[in-house]
Amino acid sequence: MMIITDTHTHLYSEAFDDDRAEMIKRAIDLGVQRFFIPAIDSSYTKSMFSLKEAYPDKVHLMMGLHPTSVKENYEEELKHVEEMLATHQFCAIGEIGIDLYWDKSTLGIQQEAFRHQINLAKKYKLPIVIHCREAFDEIFELLEEEKDDNLFGIFHCFTGTLEQAHKAISYNMKLGIGGVVTFKNGKIDQFLNQIDLKHIVLETDSPYLSPVPYRGKRNESGYIINVLEKLSDIYQLSKEKIAEITTQNSKEIFNI
Ligand SMILES: [Zn+2]
Repeated sequence: MMIITDTHTHLYSEAFDDDRAEMIKRAIDLGVQRFFIPAIDSSYTKSMFSLKEAYPDKVHLMMGLHPTSVKENYEEELKHVEEMLATHQFCAIGEIGIDLYWDKSTLGIQQEAFRHQINLAKKYKLPIVIHCREAFDEIFELLEEEKDDNLFGIFHCFTGTLEQAHKAISYNMKLGIGGVVTFKNGKIDQFLNQIDLKHIVLETDSPYLSPVPYRGKRNESGYIINVLEKLSDIYQLSKEKIAEITTQNSKEIFNI
């Protein structure tokens, strides 16, 4: 059976409080054997650890402060990230980055938090998982300043242009591809075949960004099958082959 890797899924989300175990079982039954869990802020740390306890071999935790959670108390939140990194095992620093869709007024502290966490990633030799919304220029500017051999990771929910895709790859980033690739107006499906599959990993970002035909509804990790099918169309390769290559790519990134 093929092994599918969901490199970005918020399994601890309140959206799953009523049926979390069943939802995870549905995904596992479809072949999703590896779940990578991005952090948001300290309010979710406890539920993330419970998930890890329930699925120790399948669930892998990241640690980080999400850009939309960068607020007045961000220094306190970054201290929490540092404490967790010093005392527990994590597979990545994420999700981190810049989001100018929800709040432009915090750009300065978002940049500061992003840079700080990039340096934590370098210190712990971990990959970063980038959240970028309406902020390609700002993110690339920071990556340009911070790039070195120890900086690598995933550009999560990549929705940019072909040129931006090449640029992200030039900074040692893989492209996280999810539900948007199935959208009629998602655009990335138009050029993805020009990007070598070795740069691609799969994700759902559940409970957000459901692929077609579930667009607008709650997303779950099992729906990664719809993303897999779309990539199979785009690359003209079997679903098994796509799952194999993208899982291998995720192993290279997370070292798991
Ligand atoms: Zn996310």
